[in-house]
Amino acid sequence: PLSNRVAIVTGSTSGIGLGIARALAAQGAAIMLNGLGNPDEIARTRDTLAEETGTSVEYDGADIAQPDQVAGMIARTAHAFGSVDILVNNAGVQHVAPIDAFPVERWDSVLAINLSGAFHAIRAAIPGMKANGWGRIVNVASAHGLVGSPYKSAYVAAKHGILGVTKVAALELAESGITANAVCPGYVWTPLVEQQIDDQARSHGIPREQVIREVLLKKQPSRRFVTVDEIGAVVAFLCSPGAASITGAAIPVDGGWTAE
Ligand code: NAD
Repeated sequence: PLSNRVAIVTGSTSGIGLGIARALAAQGAAIMLNGLGNPDEIARTRDTLAEETGTSVEYDGADIAQPDQVAGMIARTAHAFGSVDILVNNAGVQHVAPIDAFPVERWDSVLAINLSGAFHAIRAAIPGMKANGWGRIVNVASAHGLVGSPYKSAYVAAKHGILGVTKVAALELAESGITANAVCPGYVWTPLVEQQIDDQARSHGIPREQVIREVLLKKQPSRRFVTVDEIGAVVAFLCSPGAASITGAAIPVDGGWTAE
């Protein structure tokens, strides 16, 4: 159903972004991957995705913290594939510290990547989407876009902020065939989380299962991780014809976290 569409997924060299890229590629969309990492591994990821799905997959190494590089990525993608129809702003980083000890440069970089980067990408992608009369903007926010947690001031501020940008984009584009929505995941099973489980099990001296239920998933009533495939499925739905009237929404995919 997405076979004539072109999708950019930022931060798609691992984790949730890669899951989203896979879900969109499985629907036939051509994919521009983006993110940091080892060039050989990224090339392998790109080749595997192309082989698995039979669609075109390219990679752009833009640093999402740099506005001109973000605009360059949009332009290069439009040049390589003919258009940018789907923009998924997923690149994100975390820093955990109390506000009074939060390093100022980390505040700036979390905001630059998690919030401003998405703004610059949306800004650059809109003219092409308008010209085509069709577009899908999906921002990967977080349960932390809807509620707070201690020690995550920059992350929570950026994720709340991106819900604001999502609503404004939805309103500005409401008559143009372009929707803008946010997905708000709870804890998602990614390699990053897997690492934390082993570390915490070791430092607390408790079994992995107990770390998962009582430490990591304390806030997630389902007591299980969301999977990257489940996030990919929601993003693919938002890009489907059935979702044409959903715009400006923030969709929790969090096992009930924000229902409490
Ligand atoms: P991850 O660390 O596996 O992936 C982050 C991606 O962003 C990587 O591809 C990385 O290379 C890329 N990235 C980081 N800085 C970048 C930069 N300056 N320029 C370009 N790319 C950059 O993490 P993830 O868990 O897959 O997170 C993806 C998104 O989902 C983030 O926005 C995160 O806030 C959000 N999220 C994650 C969870 C979770 O539990 N894992 C929950 C809610 C929201």
